[in-house]
Amino acid sequence: MAKKEELECSFCKRKKSETNLLIAGLDAHICDRCIEQAHGLVLEEISETEANGLSGELILKRPQEIKSFLDQYIIGQEQAKKVLSVAVYNHYKRLLQPAPKKDDIEIEKSNIMMVGETGTGKTLLARTIAKMLNVPFAIVDATVLTEAGYVGEDVETILTRLLQAADYNVQKAEKGIVFIDEIDKIARKSDNPSITRDVSGEGVQQALLKLLEGTVVNVPPKGGRKHPDQKFVEVNTRNILFVAGGAFDGVDRIIGKRLNMQAVGYSASKNEERVDEKNLLQYIVPKDLKDFGLIPEIIGRLPVLTYLNPLDADTLRAILTEPKNAIIKQYDKLFEMDDIEFSIDEKALDFIVEKAVEYKLGARGLRSLCEAILTDAMFELPGGNEKKLRVTQKYAESKMIKSTLSKLKAVS
Ligand code: ADP
Repeated sequence: MAKKEELECSFCKRKKSETNLLIAGLDAHICDRCIEQAHGLVLEEISETEANGLSGELILKRPQEIKSFLDQYIIGQEQAKKVLSVAVYNHYKRLLQPAPKKDDIEIEKSNIMMVGETGTGKTLLARTIAKMLNVPFAIVDATVLTEAGYVGEDVETILTRLLQAADYNVQKAEKGIVFIDEIDKIARKSDNPSITRDVSGEGVQQALLKLLEGTVVNVPPKGGRKHPDQKFVEVNTRNILFVAGGAFDGVDRIIGKRLNMQAVGYSASKNEERVDEKNLLQYIVPKDLKDFGLIPEIIGRLPVLTYLNPLDADTLRAILTEPKNAIIKQYDKLFEMDDIEFSIDEKALDFIVEKAVEYKLGARGLRSLCEAILTDAMFELPGGNEKKLRVTQKYAESKMIKSTLSKLKAVS
């Protein structure tokens, strides 16, 4: 009788005895090594399609859809939401385009500049867009950036953050969004470029230029200069969307002056449309940023300019309860997890807003105020017999009196 032939892998032809494991299919076999190799190929393929945004991971929506998504999370700021929706749409359309040929029209990057008081939703807007698109998102503070060679962080570390947010997947990071906060703080301090080097101002602006435009940067994956022997990772910033934000304190005076008003308080000439003196930011143009101290090249590389309105009492009130993850909804959920029925009276909400306005705490203050009012309840109620909490204005007032927040003097 002929010796029974030894089974072999149908892919690499290794004999069963040469493998650790041979798995039988209907009429084929596969060995452990081939399984591993094939698995590697599958993973590679997946990450490539993901990085290309072809797997549906990068979800490109139309401007109106982007705006309605933003509406769920951000109250008001209609103009900013609209401008951002268009900019983001165009940015990712550009990204999904096949590489432009020589004579093709090349769509330029639509990096964004947002001007608005602190706490008006700039970071929230950028973060919400990243969330919607499912792309990595990093926030960096421009004030810690310095020119290479000085104490502080090199601009490259901006990309370190983004790499971290992308779990070190370079291709993903290269399609991410970076929010540069407090960009106004690197403005040249005076119109007169100083003789001594301006470490935190113009030098940083210069260093940022290339990054904003698109270049290949050697990024220290762990950041900083503390790890001198770490290997650099190459990151191309061509498709990274940069969103810069700043309060630009005092820019309203520059705008006012340009609008031919000596100072806030004068109305424009009769022929012109009336100027809304309370909110001059809405008239901002790139030149105002230049007069503020940003170099023209930086302004040019953040071509989409928009503004955020200051938050009035009505907006603050809506922020408390309306957004998808509004603060009050969050407390409701927290109490619900302890089987406690939580409710808060309209008057109590008005009281919280009133205090936020009085202390000039803005939207960020809403959270601290709620904490001050609810901490006792959140400490005492879980595990107890009381299963209901109704916050009345009186209750809110009594908790506020006890809190350190009430020691705040109304800032003028
Ligand atoms: P900025 O970046 O302008 O300083 P943020 O985006 O960090 O301000 O806003 C601080 C917080 O205030 C946000 O996390 C959010 O809870 C709230 N907030 C501010 N503006 C709005 C808004 N227009 N709609 C909803 N929430 C807002």
